[in-house]
Amino acid sequence: MKTLNLHCDYIKFKGLKKALGKVDEIAPDQELEGSSKECLVVMIAVESNDSLGSVEELVKNVKDIAKQVGVKNIVLYPYAHLSKDLGKPELAVEILGKADKKLSKGFKVTSAPFGYYKEFELKVKGHPLSELSREIVDGGNVKIIKGTEVKDLEPAEIKKLLNSISKSVLDKSKLKDNDHRIIGQKMDLWSFNEVAPGMVFWHDKGLFIRNKLMELWREMHRKAGYEEISTPQIMDRKLWEISGHWSKYSENNFKSEYEGRDFLIKPMNCPGGMLVYKNSPKSYKDLPLRVGELGNVHRVELSGVLAGLFRVIQFTQDDAHIFCTEKQLIDELGKVIDLVFDFVKQFDLKLDHIELSTRPAKRIGSDKIWDLAENSLEEVLKKKKIKYTVNKGDGAFYGPKIDFHLKDSLGRTWQTGTLQLDMALPERFELSYIDEKGKEERPIMLHRTIYGSLERFMGIITENYNGKFPLWLSPNQIKVLTLNDGVEDYAKEVYDKLFEAGFRVELDARNESMGKKAREAQIQRFNYLVTVGDNEKKSGKIAVKVRDGKEIETMDLDSFIEKLKVDIKERK
Ligand SMILES: [Zn+2]
Repeated sequence: MKTLNLHCDYIKFKGLKKALGKVDEIAPDQELEGSSKECLVVMIAVESNDSLGSVEELVKNVKDIAKQVGVKNIVLYPYAHLSKDLGKPELAVEILGKADKKLSKGFKVTSAPFGYYKEFELKVKGHPLSELSREIVDGGNVKIIKGTEVKDLEPAEIKKLLNSISKSVLDKSKLKDNDHRIIGQKMDLWSFNEVAPGMVFWHDKGLFIRNKLMELWREMHRKAGYEEISTPQIMDRKLWEISGHWSKYSENNFKSEYEGRDFLIKPMNCPGGMLVYKNSPKSYKDLPLRVGELGNVHRVELSGVLAGLFRVIQFTQDDAHIFCTEKQLIDELGKVIDLVFDFVKQFDLKLDHIELSTRPAKRIGSDKIWDLAENSLEEVLKKKKIKYTVNKGDGAFYGPKIDFHLKDSLGRTWQTGTLQLDMALPERFELSYIDEKGKEERPIMLHRTIYGSLERFMGIITENYNGKFPLWLSPNQIKVLTLNDGVEDYAKEVYDKLFEAGFRVELDARNESMGKKAREAQIQRFNYLVTVGDNEKKSGKIAVKVRDGKEIETMDLDSFIEKLKVDIKERK
């Protein structure tokens, strides 16, 4: 038996003409016309291998789906087109009749006529569970044919699937040598696979860099008076309807469902942050409140437009929200700009210019607030003597914004962070605080990102450094090389000490030429090459060469460790 289950707003049907000559004989007194609302329409084709034993499974299935979508009304709709192997009409009528009777114990059941050409009109709801087709096999073996097929594959089938998950092959022909995709592959930082388009598989070394960026972020934000939170990855549709993401960015959202409820995989951190704000009453004493999240977000992009880390589907957005009073606004804007400057300095990047986007024709919020927001932004930029351009009318409908454009050492500019005033979300989520006079007020809300997307930022700095990361950020800090045979023990001793001291260190004690080993270490962009030979073993010292340096310096291991520890602490 095949069934197609449709969760509908309504269905209207009418039997027009007999499709079976003997229909009055086998199914007398049928209602030819009918309708139902807020119902589960079960379209059914009884097949040749069905028997009365199929009724039980059919009823179980229908109840199960009806419960999942939460309906009280069921429409049994004979629909021959679902199968090329139809059962005898007498059997079909009997099965449908028995199913009707059994289901009537818990539901209002409407049956469409059997053996008639029918016209029908229905409206299917749009949620992920609204259409489900199933195959019901006599004997109680239920197989879902649409959606997830529940069966274990044969070894040959598994092998075939495995082969189809091709390893992503990077076409380097059109890429420059310093392209982060090439560097990432050479240094074994990350990879991509078509099973997860636009999502990064972080390897140990790439993840090290990412973790260091997060450490820096956490440290600087804690010092700047921010709290850090983390909100769930998927949340109920209700939340996104309040925030406006469900309808407005519908085509960019990944959806899911659970227990008959629609969920959205978060494309932004903000709505979750709103709930954290609302979790307890706020007073003017709590403001300014600065709350950040390094949240993992997903946005649908066509897989063809993905380009390494520069355009990804899954990324980490370092959003933070600042809730403040009108009086605190200028101060807060200034502090965000200072924070951006401090960050940029860490990466050999320069702030090139800032773009200020002002009120568009279609907008919400009073002119008074827009004046305040735009004037405050301009005032801060002028006070700080920052070069900026104005994009008149380019602001979002809910507030003006500034975008930060960075310049790298190759002279390229990148837009990374943003700072945006939001008049919509506090309104939609009814955020409030109690002011000095005990009156309820709406806080002013800012969104701001510094890295923007952590993944994209990593792509930018990887190219800017050409993979030669500063020591604190480098996944390949020290390579210990043996110069000749017989020093392996000493080399291991040096390696162990460096490892114990917490450095990212590797040992190459292979019986290869020094030239080859050094070249490989160079491709891996190690910050330091530490060579040990007979001389070093005898004197208990090490020979150190700085990346890209020509000089080799002999020093003792302890002072080398001390120097590097200081460099890392100072993020050099
Ligand atoms: Zn936000």
